Order: sequence, then structure tokens, then C-alpha cells
Amino acid sequence: MAVDVPLRRLFDYRCPSGVDAALLQPGQRLWVPFGRQRVAAVLVELASSSTVPEAKLRSATALIDETPVLDPSLLELLLWSAEYYRHPPGEVLSAALPGALRTGAAALETAEHWTLSAAARTGELPPLSPRAHKLRELVEWLQRHEAADEAALGALSSRWRDHLRELEKRGWVRRLQVTPPAAPRVAVAASAGPEPTPEQRDAIEAIAAAAGRYAPFLLHGVTGSGKTEVYLRAIDAVVQRGQQALVLVPEISLTPQLVARFAARFAVPLAVLHSSLTDVERLRAWRAARSGEAPVVIGTRSAIFAPLANAGLIVVDEEHDASYKQQEGFRYSARDLALARAQRLSIPVVLGSATPSLESLERAQSGRATLLSLPGRTGGAKPPAIHLIDLRRHAATQGIATPTVLTIKRHLDAGGQVLLYLNRRGYAPTLFCPSCGWAAPCPRCDARLTVHRRDGRLHCHHCGTEQRIPELCPTCGDATKPVGQGTERIEETLASLFPDVALERIDRDAVRKRGALEAALDRVTSGEVRLLVGTQMLTKGHHFPDVSLVVVLNADQGLFGTDFRASERLAQSIVQVAGRAGRAERAGEVLIQTEYPEHPLLAQLISGGYDAFAAAALEERRAASWPPFARVAVLRAEAARSDVPMEFLERAREAANALAVRGVEILGPATAPMERRAGVHRAQLLLHAPSHSPLQRLLARWIPTVEELPEARKVRWSIDVDPLELF
Ligand SMILES: [Zn+2]
Ligand SMILES: [Zn+2]
Repeated sequence: MAVDVPLRRLFDYRCPSGVDAALLQPGQRLWVPFGRQRVAAVLVELASSSTVPEAKLRSATALIDETPVLDPSLLELLLWSAEYYRHPPGEVLSAALPGALRTGAAALETAEHWTLSAAARTGELPPLSPRAHKLRELVEWLQRHEAADEAALGALSSRWRDHLRELEKRGWVRRLQVTPPAAPRVAVAASAGPEPTPEQRDAIEAIAAAAGRYAPFLLHGVTGSGKTEVYLRAIDAVVQRGQQALVLVPEISLTPQLVARFAARFAVPLAVLHSSLTDVERLRAWRAARSGEAPVVIGTRSAIFAPLANAGLIVVDEEHDASYKQQEGFRYSARDLALARAQRLSIPVVLGSATPSLESLERAQSGRATLLSLPGRTGGAKPPAIHLIDLRRHAATQGIATPTVLTIKRHLDAGGQVLLYLNRRGYAPTLFCPSCGWAAPCPRCDARLTVHRRDGRLHCHHCGTEQRIPELCPTCGDATKPVGQGTERIEETLASLFPDVALERIDRDAVRKRGALEAALDRVTSGEVRLLVGTQMLTKGHHFPDVSLVVVLNADQGLFGTDFRASERLAQSIVQVAGRAGRAERAGEVLIQTEYPEHPLLAQLISGGYDAFAAAALEERRAASWPPFARVAVLRAEAARSDVPMEFLERAREAANALAVRGVEILGPATAPMERRAGVHRAQLLLHAPSHSPLQRLLARWIPTVEELPEARKVRWSIDVDPLELF
């Protein structure tokens, strides 16, 4: 049995009494005693013997499900993932179930009905007192009817629940759980989309031709090339065949337009799964996916575990997006699991992006996926012209260089919209004292506090610490000043430069309230707002048809990152945000401000676009032997005392060396670049291997010994296989 506890093992139980063991199936839930609790656990395997001594083997108490909540294919995928990511199987299986099911709720939608008990019908019970009018009335009514539901009983009496409880206690009635009939399938009446271009048609046909077998596709289409139309047509074909399509999107709240487009296109129920659903909503969507009632299932990362009655296709939109990798607990990649799941189901899987991950590009280059290209924008829109602005040569007003200001003015005068991108929220990244050099530090991190003007406070973006902004420097008593730019400050600067132009800021602080993002986006698309400043949020899938100029205010944050993926992420952000410009008839313009205009990454992006960058970046990865040309895993540790994580990692390293698996290199331990975060000290050990199998061979034997180290009890540790970030 898989029990939802942080232990990398399964647990043995006896079959519950009164249940025929031959009828049990893996994937069913049972109530089991665990310690002093009773928990819902998932049956993984039936065994005829156990290593647990006879006297200690406990019995499961009851069977919860008639039919398994996890079908054999999904169960197998989950158990494989637990092995691959070295995560406790009980927690992995739990991640695949809606919260309500983890605590034993019914997997099928049932309604309670009441009927007279057999004893009541045969007259074996002592008669009810003549004074118990209400009870007698109910019994008489039930004698005339087969069974009654809530609605029928509610019509008889307002206190029917009390009366029934009393009758149940005396043995007169019993409850029945009735499964309502499935909702009738709605005929597909897809509203016709635009006529596909020849490239779109080729892609749609290639996906359709792969029906019924495992076929991974990389759909690489520049922004505005109509990837979504390819998804919609491929899904339409699947739905017409009576099958289901599973669509993964990075973040529902950031892609309301995409969901709306799906809803408008298909006249069938959509099951939507994302993190802000209530338990009830989530269970309902899960059931609709499982019963097949919803032919289209759309959701964020964890929707990769949605049950499907009859799967025909998986689509992963914006497959390069970092949100597909879970960064804590069960550290899986939904993008990678989409491939694994499609393989098990023998169905095609489409990974789509304007800026594919280097992993996916390499997969296509090596022939392990089919590349489908949409090189041009639909409707004849021209790609934007990109220019660099050298920040060393031009005077800047609070982070906006003079040529940039002039270009913004030109676009506004011509009636265009302008989008400014800066991936740093708040007012300024530092509060600095020019007299003594003090810079407001976070008391819990090796980091500086960010100045937020709106609420007049200093915020730590790493641990959430907040402080009042001190009026004077706490060290020397002189006046302090905010240094550098965040989106709040850019908003202020723009307001003073263009006082008559309506302005909107979109970042996590500005659109905190529910519905605020949609409202802000509406003001932009309606043309009410002409200037738009925002963070990473702006790079995600929104369509701004009238934006004619995009300004990347600071490209330098990612140029010299310590992480091997830093340049890939920077290139993706720049290309994604640049893609917001000039989507309609108007050709767009993009300005990138930098202090390093001669940097090869920027040069490649400008001369050859994302493809040229990706080709060069893949060569670099190959030369340096980084993923996708190697496999890595990271053992991270943290503790309040600074020496403890390093001690643990040293012991872990010795244990790994003792296993001597050929090909696996062990690097470190090393402290994190920001060693202290939220009051804890962090360090890590990096495992590097030329391929998947030696790394997995080592992990399989090593993690159990790491778990047993005495030092392991003094730290919080985790293993991250295929990490997205090294720290
Ligand atoms: Zn000072
Ligand atoms: Zn902090």
C-alpha cells in the first residue's frame, strides 16, 4: 500500500475482513491503520507474503473504491516517477489525487437515497408509537415508494433529516448510495476557425496521422504564427473520434485568453484543473475527466496526472516554461512526464513553443521528436525590427535612455501602444546611504531589501520579510536614497515623461486581487491604456494586437548568471516579450537596453533570432557537457547552523564515492551563491553523468544510504533530478 507519508517505501497490510482478496485491484483505495490514525491509502500491489512478521502485520479496515481511482497506466507512470525522481511513492500518488480523495471522499459522484429496511417491509419490527405522527407518516410514504432522495423528502417535512436519523437508529430505514447517470454527451459543434495556412495544415495532418501511436512532436512557431489554431484543429479531430485531449498550460490566471478560446471553439464540456480551485471544484473537474464526460481537459502542471477515460492526445503549450517543473516536494517536470505518459498510452504528444527549450530542440535534432515549424506570422504580419540601445553611450532618465524616450514618443504620437518590460518589481532594488555605504540588508537572507513606494516598506523578495523604510541611515544618520529601478519607479518616470498618456503596471503587486489582471488586460486590449510596464507576467501568452513598440529595459540581469540555463532563460524572455509587438498589420519595433551591446548572446538574437541563439547555446552545452548532453541531479541541504549542511553533504559524498558508479562525477559540496535565505544556510552536492542510466543506478543505491546518515536528521534535505536551477 502507498501511504501519504514522507517515507521512500510501501507498507504491507492484510486484506480487510469480509473482502475477497481476489477481487482487489491495484489503484483502489483502502482505509488502513497507520500509527494511531486511520488513513486512506492506495493499493499498489497484491502480495502473497510479507517480510513483516505475522504478529505485526495489521489489517486494512475497509475498501473505499469499487473501481480503482488510478487506472493501471497512470498508476504505473506514478510509480515510475517516484523511482525516477526518488520521491516517496505515497506522496507521489497523493499528488495525483484531488484533496478530497486523499481523505477518503467517494471517487464517483453519488447521491444519498433512503428506503425502508428489509425488516420494516416484512413487519418484523415492533410497531411505532401511535403518537409518533411524523415518523409514521414518513414510513407510510416510504411504503408507497421504492426509495426517496433529498428533494422528495424535503418536500414532506423540513425536519426530515432528524426523523430519518431516528428511524435509521430503530432499524426502519437504510441509506443507499446511488450513482447518477452520466450527463449525456453533447454533440461536437466546433465553431469554424480561420482557414489554416499551408504550414499549419502540414502540422495538423502530421499530428492526425500519428493517431493511436506514441509520436512526440515539437511545434516550433514564432509568436503570432498560429500555434493555438494547430492545437485546436488537432484536438477537434481527437474529440470527433470520441477521445479526450489533455492540454497543459503554464498558468491559467496568466492565460485566460487561451482558455476562453478553447471554450468558444468546442461545444463540449471542458474540465479545467488549476491551483486556485476549491476542493469541490477540483473533484468535479477530476470526475469529468475520469468519466470522459469532458472530452477536453485543460490544466496547469499537476493536470498531467488527470485521469482520462479515453486519451487521444496530449498538448503542452509553452513547453519551455519553468512552471512545468515543480520546485519543491515531488520535483517532477510535467513536460517530461507528458512524454512518458503519451508513451504509455500510445498517443501523440505535442510540445509547443515560440522559444523551445534546448532539451526539446535537441530531442528534435536527434530524431527523437518530429519538428513541426510555423516560421511565419499569419495574416502577413512582419516580424519586429530589433535594435540595441547602448546604456553606456546614452544619458538615461531613471533607467530609460534618451533614444528610448524619443522612440516611445514617436510610437505614441503615431497612435501605437508601448510595452516596457523589466523583470524586477518594487520601486528600487536597493536602499543606499551615500555617506557610509550602508545598503538595507535582509536580516534573514544574504540579500538586500527592495524598496516598495506604494506601501512605504522594504520587502525581501526571497523570504517575504517586510520593514518600514527608515527615514535616516541606521549606521550614520544621514539621508538614504533608493538606487536602481523596479517597475514602480519606471511607472513613476513614465508618468512624469508622458503625463497625458494612460498607463498600466502589471506585476505581482499591482494585480494581487482576484480579477485585477483580467481588468488590467482589458484596459490594454481596449486601447484605453497606451503605456504598459510590467514583469515576466507580460511575456506569457497575452495578445496585445496594438502594441507597436516593446522595450526591454535591462537585458543585463541574465547575461552573466551563475546558472547554466541563465542565458537560455534570458533569450526566451526577450523573444517572448518582443513577440508582443506588431502582431497585426503594423510591423513592430523592439528596443533592448544593455551595457553590453557586443555580448554574443544579444548579437545572435538580433542577427539570427532565437534559432541562431539556440544553435550556439546547444553547441556550448555540448562542449561543456551540460544537459541535454548530460544528466544532473542535485542533493540540497539546509539548516539554521552554517556548518551543518556542509557536514551532511560531505558524508553523503563519501557514501556516493563508496558506491563507485562509473561515469558519475560528484561535484562539491558547495554553499549556495546566496548562502543564507530565510534564516537558513544552504549548500548542495551536484551529480553529473553522461547519461540517464548510470545516474539512476547511483541514485537507487545512494539515496537509501543518505536517508540513514545520522547527519540527515540535522538538516532539511532534498534530491532534485533534472533540476531547472542549480541553486
Ligand atoms: Zn550611512
Ligand atoms: Zn530575506
